[in-house]
Amino acid sequence: MENELIYEGKAKKLFSTSEPNVLRIEYKDAATALNGKRKESFAGKGVLNNQISSKLFRHLQSVGINSHFIQQISENEQLVQEISMIPLEVVVRNVMAGSLAKKLGCEEGIEIPEAIVEFYYKDDALDDPFINEDHIHFLQIVSQAELTVLKDLARKINQVLIPFFDQIGITLVDFKLEFGRGKDGEILLADEISPDTCRLWDKKTKEKLDKDVFRRNLGDLLPVYQEVAKRLEGV
Ligand code: UDP
Repeated sequence: MENELIYEGKAKKLFSTSEPNVLRIEYKDAATALNGKRKESFAGKGVLNNQISSKLFRHLQSVGINSHFIQQISENEQLVQEISMIPLEVVVRNVMAGSLAKKLGCEEGIEIPEAIVEFYYKDDALDDPFINEDHIHFLQIVSQAELTVLKDLARKINQVLIPFFDQIGITLVDFKLEFGRGKDGEILLADEISPDTCRLWDKKTKEKLDKDVFRRNLGDLLPVYQEVAKRLEGV
């Protein structure tokens, strides 16, 4: 059936389309923190995240990184390939921040010379726990070969996105990726890449240009997302 709501997440809705294996994503204005326990709506956030994520997925595709992204079809909608999601959040870190700073007792802002890749098990009831490779194998989430692909892709995407943000005066501090399997079992980048899922700091002023503004009550979220979108328009 066409236009059937297939899934509603915290920041996006997923609908079927007239084409088999093609879905429509609608970006919502909601922002959540503390695994959904805190929620607020920011009119215009969905449009900005769609614009930013579409731009980043297009850039990644242009350098050969395949994703579910097909095209942006309106201000707040994209067409994507239907894939089977892998229940992992793959986090890549270039600068110490957030949960890792807390866990290791390190100061935020310290450079991490060799990017750190981490895995979290996507499970709301468990609050998305940090897990290691043995846990992933035990739970049979992905095979050993797929795990290697995930790690290699995460590092490669990092190497593409660092200079992309650098040229617009932004430090890519850390970010979260999600992947899925396409029709033929191939691993594809999925979900979104936006200020909701990345830490982005202004290179000079270190101003936060991401969801930490909401998580930490640092001010208005919308102008910050607008700033990222505006800078990306120029590249
Ligand atoms: N992140 C995300 N979704 C999550 C958890 C984290 O997109 O459910 C992103 C977050 O925006 C940051 C990176 O992953 O860019 C690392 O987040 P961290 O583990 O430091 O968690 P936090 O401090 O945000 O709880």
